[in-house]
Order: sequence, then structure tokens, then C-alpha cells
Amino acid sequence: MVDGFRVVVVGAGFSGLAAALALDRAGADVRVLEARDRVGGRVLTRWLPDGTQLDLGAQWIGPTQDRMYALIAEHGLTTFASAAVGVPTLLWAGRRRAEPPAQAARVLALLDEYAARLDPAAPWQAPEAARWDRTTLGAWLDTTAGDGDTAAYLGRLLAGGLLATGADEVSLLHLLFYLRSAGGTGPLLGMAGGAQQDRIVGGPPLLAERMAAALPPGALSLATPVRTIEQSVDGVTVCTDTGRVDGDAVVVAVAPALAGRIRYDPPLPALRDGLTQRMPMGSALKVHAVYPEPFWRADDISGVATSSAGPLTETVDNSTPGSPLGVLSGFSYSSDAAALREMPPERRRRCLLDAFSAVIGPRATDPMDLVEYDWSADPWTRGCFGGALTPGAWRTYGPSLRAPVGRVHWAGTETATRWNGYLEGAVRAGERAASEVLTR
Ligand SMILES: Cc1cc2nc3c(=O)[nH]c(=O)nc-3n(C[C@H](O)[C@H](O)[C@H](O)COP(=O)(O)OP(=O)(O)OC[C@H]3O[C@@H](n4cnc5c(N)ncnc54)[C@H](O)[C@@H]3O)c2cc1C
Repeated sequence: MVDGFRVVVVGAGFSGLAAALALDRAGADVRVLEARDRVGGRVLTRWLPDGTQLDLGAQWIGPTQDRMYALIAEHGLTTFASAAVGVPTLLWAGRRRAEPPAQAARVLALLDEYAARLDPAAPWQAPEAARWDRTTLGAWLDTTAGDGDTAAYLGRLLAGGLLATGADEVSLLHLLFYLRSAGGTGPLLGMAGGAQQDRIVGGPPLLAERMAAALPPGALSLATPVRTIEQSVDGVTVCTDTGRVDGDAVVVAVAPALAGRIRYDPPLPALRDGLTQRMPMGSALKVHAVYPEPFWRADDISGVATSSAGPLTETVDNSTPGSPLGVLSGFSYSSDAAALREMPPERRRRCLLDAFSAVIGPRATDPMDLVEYDWSADPWTRGCFGGALTPGAWRTYGPSLRAPVGRVHWAGTETATRWNGYLEGAVRAGERAASEVLTR
């Protein structure tokens, strides 16, 4: 037991909440400071009047994400299976195609083979790390994928679909690390049997609320952004706009890009600060079109689609069981998302609905509702799904990703070695940071 040992947790996303619960269970005196007026971080659910659940942030969990399933059960919640009906559609250079060329599968197998050679806790130590880190995924695909369309498609699927970035913005090493942390392309890309298998009844925010409710009364302060973290040989002082909280240690459970916006006194070592400058957030737009029914199913169209070109890289049938409404959700990444953001609203709407029509037919252009939430514009997230180290940065800055700086410990999904970038990674990273603090 660690009675009287006070730990301040910055951020009440899944990572901060998991850290706080673990610390509280061990007897520490926990104080959680959260900038927003709600818990959960990168999760947000909007409810349509008929009870349809629109998850605007994270929504899926899948096999081997054991901590998430355990938390769901522990907090009295359940899951439902994603609506994966029928055969997925592949739009290849604007045309429907049964499946990608055979070399696409060979490229994925090669990536899995490379990824298996990495230690996810120290990817920079792999013998090929230097070469893989100075090669962008895009450049590697150009020489490996066989042709331009396959390279473009795989770049969108892997850099976009997994990291919400562009194939030219991320190194091969970072992608391999990400694949390794999740167990490979199969678990990452799959619906049933993969990371997109299940959703949480009530939405992920409900789980975050239940986790927060399990903290001791008074432990959580909302609408309390942390501005400065001071540390000395005796302890830490965490400063907000309204006061100061003293403690023995602090767990910073926010993405490195946002951790770099907090002021540290004394300043962080150069390597750690350099890391926060080299781990930008991805850029995704997740858009939901709502229809009176999932009409595409009657036409034997699945709604699940991937595309080698155009504003949307992926769509999914996101309808909720028990609701008559049909929901088609689309994902746009990197430069496509940036271009959509810059369009006047009417033009963006037309562009998105045209892209939905390419998947489910012309009825897509007349939705009851079109719902978007831009995480890049949100000051307490500034992008999604998560942060990725820039090409060439892993070998120099990677070792400072998790290394505590005195009494300051780092959590957040970006620090996870298992399911990095996911809710599961967030929880595991929070629990790892808590045990690190407890062994001080
Ligand atoms: C659109 C979208 C779709 C996604 N889809 C999935 C999915 O299907 N499945 C999946 O597993 N993951 C998905 N993710 C990723 C998942 O949401 C994240 O991995 C996870 O939520 C990260 O949790 P975290 O606690 O590490 O960080 P966050 O959730 O970002 O929590 C950090 C918290 O810190 C707070 N904060 C920031 N700065 C400060 C400060 N200075 N002071 C105090 N508080 C601060 C923030 O407000 C936030 O609440 C998705 C994310 C997005 C946005």
C-alpha cells in the first residue's frame, strides 16, 4: 500500500482513467485534472431521436483487446457486433472490382513478416531500423507494390485507415511498429475477428463515465486544463488556471503533441521535448450519413467499402441493431481530409454524398442527416486517431517516449506497446504508468 502518496493524473481519457483507477486501487491518493467538461477524451457519442447511436470518435473493439472487454464487463456494459453485412466493395480507380490485385496480399504478408522482427518496446533496435525509418511508407510501396494503383490503394488503407495520415508522411518503421503492436495486418484491418468487430452498447463515453464514477468522490476535476508542471526533489506541483495541486508524482495521460503544450519547470530534457515536436496527430474526418433505412442491403451492397482514390478512403455500415435507420459512415484522411475541411459547407456536403453514392448508389445523395465532428479542430485533441513519429525520428527520440522525467510519467495510447493508437492501448498505457509510479 502507498497511503499518503499523492499522484496527479493529467487527462481523463481512457488512459488517465485507467491509471487513476489502478493507483486508487493500490491505495494512492489520486487527483485527476481534465481540461474538458467531460471525461473520455477521443470518444463522443451523439444520439438520434430514435435512439440510434452515432459514435463520432472511437467506436470499435476486437479480439485480443482484453483490457477493454474486461472493463466493459466490470462496469456492467455489453457489446454488439458491427453491421458487417455482405461482401465488401472495392472501388479501384473509380470502378468496382472484386478484389485487389494478388500482389496487394503479398505486400501485406511482407509487412507482417517485417513487423514480426520488431520489439514493440524498442523498434529502433531492429537491425533494419535505420533503413526502414528513413523510408516513407509511400516510397517503399512505390518500389514494392508493383504498380501505381496498388501502391496508392495500400498507402491509403495502411497510412490512412490505420494512422489517419498520408503514406508520404509516415516511415515504414512507424507502420511496422504499429502493426507489431496490434499483431499484424489481419487483426488491424478485419471487421469480424479484427479490431472492428464490436461496439459498446451505450457508446464508449458511457464506459468512461462509469470508470470516472468508480473514483473516490472529489478525485476528478473537470474543466481544469493543466498549464504548468513543476517538479523538485520533494515533489510535483501541477498548476491550473484556478489553483495548484501538490503531489509526489504526476502521470501525463495526453498525446505527446498536447503534452508538449504544457509548460514544465524545470524544462523537459531536449530529447523528450524533441519527441513532442516530432509526433504530430493524424488527420481524419469521420462523417455519418443517416437514411430512413439501410436500403443498400436490399441491393446486396454491404456498405463496407475501400477506395483507391477520392475523398473517402473507407465507408462502413454503421447502423445500430434495433433501429430502423441506416447509417453509413465514411473516413477521409490526410490531404483528402484537409481539402474537405477547406471547402465551403455546401460543396463539402456534395462531395461527401457523391462519394457515398459511389458505394451505395444514387439514393445516398438524399440523407436525413449528415453528421461530422472534426477532431483536428478540437483544442484538446487537435487530430486523430493518434500521434505518429515522423520519418527518421524513432532512433533518436523513440527512447524518450515512455522514459519518466524525474517524477513525471507518461501515459496515453501513443506510449502503448500493445494496441498502440487504440482504446486498448490507452488503457494498457495508463495501467503501465500507474505501476511505474507505484514502484518508485
Ligand atoms: C474519429 C476517431 C476514431 C477512432 N476510432 C477508434 C476505434 O474505433 N477503436 C479504438 O480503439 N480507437 C479508436 N480511436 C483512437 C482512440 O480514440 C484513442 O486511442 C484513445 O481514445 C486515446 O485515449 P487517451 O486516453 O490516450 O487520450 P485522449 O482520449 O486524448 O485523452 C486525453 C485527455 O486529456 C485531456 N487533456 C489534454 N490536454 C490537457 C491538459 N493540458 N490538461 C488537462 N487535460 C488535458 C483531453 O481533454 C482528454 O480528455 C479513434 C479516435 C478518433 C478520434
